[in-house]
Amino acid sequence: MIRYRSTRGGEAVSFSEALLRGLAGDGGLYLPTSIPKLPFAALAGASSLAELGERALAPWLGEEFAELGALMREALTFPAPLVELEPGLWVLELFHGPTLSFKDFGARTMARLMQRALEARGERRIILVATSGDTGSAVADGFAGMANIRVVLLYPKGRVSPVQERQLICRRPGVMALAVEGSFDDCQRLVKAALVDAELSQLPLSSANSINIGRLLPQMLYYLWAARQSEQRVHFSVPSGNLGNLTAGVLASLMSLGTPRLIAAHNANRFFPEFLAGKAAPYAFYPTVATLSNAMDVGAPSNFERLYALLGDQLPAQIWGTSVDDATTLARMQAVYERYGYLVCPHTAVGLEGLARYRRDTGDAQPAVALACAHPAKFPETVARALGVTPREPRLEALWQAEVSVREIPPTLAALKAELLAEVV
Ligand SMILES: *Cc1c(COP(=O)(O)O)cnc(C)c1O
Repeated sequence: MIRYRSTRGGEAVSFSEALLRGLAGDGGLYLPTSIPKLPFAALAGASSLAELGERALAPWLGEEFAELGALMREALTFPAPLVELEPGLWVLELFHGPTLSFKDFGARTMARLMQRALEARGERRIILVATSGDTGSAVADGFAGMANIRVVLLYPKGRVSPVQERQLICRRPGVMALAVEGSFDDCQRLVKAALVDAELSQLPLSSANSINIGRLLPQMLYYLWAARQSEQRVHFSVPSGNLGNLTAGVLASLMSLGTPRLIAAHNANRFFPEFLAGKAAPYAFYPTVATLSNAMDVGAPSNFERLYALLGDQLPAQIWGTSVDDATTLARMQAVYERYGYLVCPHTAVGLEGLARYRRDTGDAQPAVALACAHPAKFPETVARALGVTPREPRLEALWQAEVSVREIPPTLAALKAELLAEVV
């Protein structure tokens, strides 16, 4: 059975331990101590994403998760279509889940894995999430209704887009949304303070950040699914911020796909491309800068530690990186729309630009898949600015009719504690 060890060393633990802990006790990130090998041909017979998920994830999880099929069918209720833009160039649409971004794959699967692990132990968790956008809604939606789990979301009031706010506050069973009168940093500070507060230690508090191995492993599935659908060896272009998606691609390569090229397409937050080019030392991160592809605005990618522990000096041989500015992102959105009549969100445009640069700079024209990370309708202002059209998505429009539930609090620990002690216990 595969075990998991912190990037900083120490004892190896089971998958469910790593899942429930999130971050290792020493502050490191969990990595498998060995990679299960699954020949790609063994996956090719899978007739759905859920079936492929069952076969591909089983060796990573251990006996506790024996009947994985039902869990995967409950988690992955939506398709991941591969759309051909031209021969040898596809986009993999990862935005058909309930909150319209790829984060639904990881959050929905992790929620069900966690529910099982807690049920088996007879434990509960209250998950605190500070969010500025996509992650919060995916976690809220993914974990809603899990019997042993409650979710408390903190977001900065007035500082997320109207669509994002609606996605955060629509009423969900077991989820409490708090609009904090402060910044995203205030929200993060409150979560950290609550997790170590003595009076709150009576509550089974926990956090759900993007570094959890339980969110990462399910993200391998869509790489395998794309390779299965295209029936050939393909390269992947990955719009990247915290590098979780890219790490999942590396794991999928090591397990099944051989060594396709992975293209790390970043916005102006360019630490990782510079590292790959030998222009930045490991961990010499930069401050975050704000861009149009804001889900990738990460100066210090948290999964870098994991990638570096996994591949070390081999990283530049396997991954090709580039940094794309906002003007070029808008131009790429326009070019894609004019050439193919296809609308992309700004993050996806960064990935398509990265792939075009890779092909131009290396002359490697091998077939490739660009990951489409979010639905363009989640970013109506940017799409309208680039293309003069407003993307529509009935599920987002329906949100304005949905019932909402949100409480406003000042940015103080006392206020958060009052909510937690009154509402959640
Ligand atoms: C989270 C997110 C990303 C970045 O993914 P990482 O795993 O953090 O690299 C890119 N695009 C969208 C739309 C996202 O929500």
